[in-house]
Amino acid sequence: MAGRVFFCMIQQTRIVHAHNNSESQTRLRSPQATYGGQGGFSGLGIAPKLLEVLASLKFQTPTPIQAKAIPAAIEGKDMIGIAQTGTGKTLAFGIPLIQRLMQTGQGMGLVIVPTRELALQDNEALESLGRAFHVKTAVLIGGVAMGYQLRMLQRRPHIIIGTPGRIIDLRLVNILILDEADRMLDMGFAPQVNQILEAVPKDRQTMLFSATMPENIVKIATRHMKLPVRVEVAQSGTAAERVEHELFVARKDQKARLLDKVLSEHKGSVLLFSRTKHGAKKICRDIKAMGHSAAEIHSNKSLAQRREALEGFKLGKYRVLVATDIASRGIDVKGIEVVINYDLPENPEDYVHRIGRTGRAGQAGRAISFVVPEQRYKVKAIERLTRSSFPISPLPELPPARPSVHVIDEDRRPTFSRRTQTHVRRDYSGQRSSHRPSSFRR
Ligand code: ADP
Ligand code: MG
Repeated sequence: MAGRVFFCMIQQTRIVHAHNNSESQTRLRSPQATYGGQGGFSGLGIAPKLLEVLASLKFQTPTPIQAKAIPAAIEGKDMIGIAQTGTGKTLAFGIPLIQRLMQTGQGMGLVIVPTRELALQDNEALESLGRAFHVKTAVLIGGVAMGYQLRMLQRRPHIIIGTPGRIIDLRLVNILILDEADRMLDMGFAPQVNQILEAVPKDRQTMLFSATMPENIVKIATRHMKLPVRVEVAQSGTAAERVEHELFVARKDQKARLLDKVLSEHKGSVLLFSRTKHGAKKICRDIKAMGHSAAEIHSNKSLAQRREALEGFKLGKYRVLVATDIASRGIDVKGIEVVINYDLPENPEDYVHRIGRTGRAGQAGRAISFVVPEQRYKVKAIERLTRSSFPISPLPELPPARPSVHVIDEDRRPTFSRRTQTHVRRDYSGQRSSHRPSSFRR
């Protein structure tokens, strides 16, 4: 059955493709002409059945990066795609990916991403696009039993989405996508990603997408690409258009009180970034003591805990999500009102990505950053990258400090057993608790 659907699609796409060949070239050169008004997604070389899927998913008008990237990507061109956060880059590569796999009827797509959460999110988007064509996907990420992932691979998926450390068996890959490509090629991931680039067949299409693409990374990337088309909707480093930036200079010992003030002044959901995991834990504790619901997401947490925190945040169970930079890239949560940089990020690119968790898909958003006096130079670097200037707001009158609450640090417990669990809970609450350990929660 799946084979038959694929065959039908091959017939359809060939016709559409031939018909639009010259048109798509023109569109690439004058992208503005394609955005808004001209029959939505039609005319970009997308197969009729895929157009129906887009309509059923309520996508009506392509975003600028989609209008520019899709025609060339469908033609099989290597590509470096640069567009602001929240402007639909997933579909910009997802539509051509699925269509080309259908056209050829063979090979495999590989999407590499920096975090487990982004792998799951990109998978969701690709699954919903590919469902009508029986496209099988597999997610390969840390924190999931290897045996289970091997079984997923035995299903011979059309697309694998994963973090670099987990990716195996690359012989069939004919389309390779690096989502958040600059992050994938920077020092942290480069060794693993280089191994992947060496192992995948030379005859493939390679596509890179991000909102930031430093030139040294472009240089590295193009070594692995065949005359890539550069599809640039906004200059690298351009921040999400409708986000307002607010900065406060505050000493380290003033930050918790400033946070108390900020959280009382804004009523919506808040994503807060901390520099370290340990800091995230402490800030989360402080926020709960301020009377707000909060959860933490960082690499000391299990995959199940991370999923619970993110899902709970999406569903409104937690008003505040306290995160390290693992949540700065790609995560698409509707309606985050404020992103708070409790600590400024290590590098200016991360600022663009962090604050890009708000102001997505054309919505407005707010970014509030706490700057310790000796870090003003970091603000300058962010201003240079984003080509903006961010005035410093006067520090408001701060509420009194909250008494510190003593909570046992569950992540630091060296071993885990039901006995220690009961013991720790009894120490904390003064009585036997029936709570299950957080690492059991799903
Ligand atoms: P990016 O990767 O550029 O940060 P995403 O691909 O995560 O952005 O998309 C951001 C949001 O915009 C998602 O919720 C997505 O469903 C939505 N979106 C994508 N394309 C369109 C479109 N053409 N029209 C309306 N919404 C879109
Ligand atoms: Mg993305």
